[in-house]
Parts: sequence; C-alpha cells; structure tokens
Amino acid sequence: MGFSRQRVTLRLSVTDRCQLRCRYCMPLEGVPRVSHHDVLRFEEILRVVTLLRERFGLYKVRLTGGEPLLRSGITELARALASMGEMELALTTNGQLLSDLAEPLRRAGLTRINVSLDSLDPARYRELTRGGSLERTIAGIEAARAAGFAPIKLNTVVLRGVNLCEVGRIATFALERGLQPRFLELMPIGCARGFFERDFVSSEEVHRELEKDFTLAELPVNPASSSREFTIEGSGRLHGMVGFISSESRPFCAGCDRLRLTSTGTLIGCLARGDGCDLRKYLRLGDRDADEELAQAVHQVLAAKRPRGEFTRADLMPLLGG
Ligand code: SAM
Ligand code: SF4
Repeated sequence: MGFSRQRVTLRLSVTDRCQLRCRYCMPLEGVPRVSHHDVLRFEEILRVVTLLRERFGLYKVRLTGGEPLLRSGITELARALASMGEMELALTTNGQLLSDLAEPLRRAGLTRINVSLDSLDPARYRELTRGGSLERTIAGIEAARAAGFAPIKLNTVVLRGVNLCEVGRIATFALERGLQPRFLELMPIGCARGFFERDFVSSEEVHRELEKDFTLAELPVNPASSSREFTIEGSGRLHGMVGFISSESRPFCAGCDRLRLTSTGTLIGCLARGDGCDLRKYLRLGDRDADEELAQAVHQVLAAKRPRGEFTRADLMPLLGG
C-alpha cells in the first residue's frame, strides 16, 4: 500500500555538520565531509520548496540538520522561505548558537522553535553531547522566549541509566517557563544501534515516571502529528502540555505526511527504510523544464511510503535531519 498525500511537510536538512556529538546521534569523528559543491544552494532549496508548495500541498517546512544554525546565511534562508507565505516555518536546534540568532530568525519570519535538551545537569549534558554547554542552550531558550516564540518545545530523548531520572525535573523546568516538554523514544538508527536495547525507554515508562509528580490527561489525537499530547498539572499551579514521540512503541506511519530533503539533495520518504531519490541531478540539469522530472521524482518517493517495519536504513541521523 502506497500513501496518497494531498498535503505534505518537509524536513529540510541544511547542513550535516554539528558542533556537538550527542552519543546517540553523531559519531565522535563527525560525519564524512561533503564537498561544498555538493550541498544544495539556497536557490535550489527554494526551487524544491516552491514545487512542493505548488504541486504537493506543502504546508510546513522544518529547518534541521546536523545543526541548522551552523549553516551560514540561515536567517536569509528563513526570510526567503517565510516570504512565500501561508506556510509554517519551524526549526529544530541544539540551542548552542540560539542566543544570538533567535531574534533575527523571529524577524525573518520563523514561526516555531524546538530545542533539544537532554539534561539539566551541566556535567551530564556535556558528557552526553560530548562537549556541549548547558548554559549556552539555556541562554538560547531564554533568547527564544524573549523574541516571542511560542510555544517553544523542548525535545528530550530519554535514555535508561542516563536521564530517565531527570524527566520530572525537565518537565518542571519547561512548565515554569511556559515551554512544552516532549519526550522522545530512542530510535535504533545510526550511532544508537549499538546500545538501543540497553538504553531504550518506552513513552509508557516515561509517562509513569511523570505521574509520580504530575497529573496527565490525554488530548484528542491529531493523526498528522508524530506526538501524542497530554495536559500536565503539578503542584504550585504548574500546568501546560507535554508530548510523547513514540517512534518505536507506537509508530505513526499511517498519518505520516513527511518528506525529508538532505543537505545534498536526496529526497527521502521514510526515516526507517527505502531508498531516497537524488533531486540534485535534476536541479543541476541547467534545464528550466526539469520541474517535470523533479515532480516525477517526488511522486515516486511519495508512492513508496509504507508502514515502516524494521529500521533498515544505515544512514547517520545528522544526514537525515531527525
Ligand atoms: N541538531 C539539532 C538538534 O539536536 O535539535 C537538529 C538535528 S537532530 C538530528 C534532531 C532531533 O533528532 C534531536 O531532537 C535529536 O535528539 C533527535 N535524534 C537524533 N538521534 C536520535 C535517535 N537515535 N533517536 C531519537 N531521536 C534522535
Ligand atoms: Fe548534533 Fe543534534 Fe545530532 Fe546532537 S542530536 S549531535 S546536536 S545533530
């Protein structure tokens, strides 16, 4: 069964590079360097986005990576995408460079920000990210709040023996600041394959952990969302929403309208399996009519979307954009 989609969303990986080396995501040596020439230029990205908007009902773009804030000119790219109008424009970041960029990105027209935050303990954060500064990420979150982003979501990948003990603290930190915590199940992909069985924690277990301090009530399911959302209430009038992304225990393939575009122009229909399609070769044909070939390629990728089964993809997560 292929999925037929009237509307799609796009995860746009603008760079494979990252200054951090989160243990479940990035190998110590980083990803193999790609030549500058192979990375899609802004005008090529905009051409793909325009095509997806005009022919495939694209309604949301999420800038990701690697670390998207490392791509030079990211604010200009955001401005160009935002100027297309009628499209949600979001970004997922590790927050290390956000304190300087939150305000310019907001002014450029970015509508939403998710910040990855796996620990509130500075030493554990540094250890897990292999060198990241918790202080800088928190400064980035504060800058995003000051710039008026709302809701800001905090993404936490929960790992046994690492940060499961912190989920209540992270939820409290988020709710005190009007942020929305979201707890992600580890996916057996890239670097995480080696310790997936050992460190995986189900959303159900995180939910039980949170119930020690909070009351949770499920909200109606949005079939196009990867996240299940709950209202959450704690002592001292703490309240808000919490999300769970249960990629393993409750895959959401049936509602998935996501496409991914890698920084070098491969269009991917599924994070777990299947081949991608190289759009760069059409983008660089030097042929104004290549739009037809591009559209055919998108059709093929969409038609090949299936409920995913096992993770068989061997790519590293920073190449896929999370
Ligand atoms: N560098 C940015 C960041 O960390 O937010 C954006 C890219 S990162 C690949 C996007 C998201 O993927 C992050 O929230 C990260 O925690 C998540 N991620 C990476 N590897 C993962 C894995 N094996 N399982 C689940 N989530 C993963
Ligand atoms: Fe970098 Fe994000 Fe991967 Fe961490 S999760 S290594 S911050 S790309």
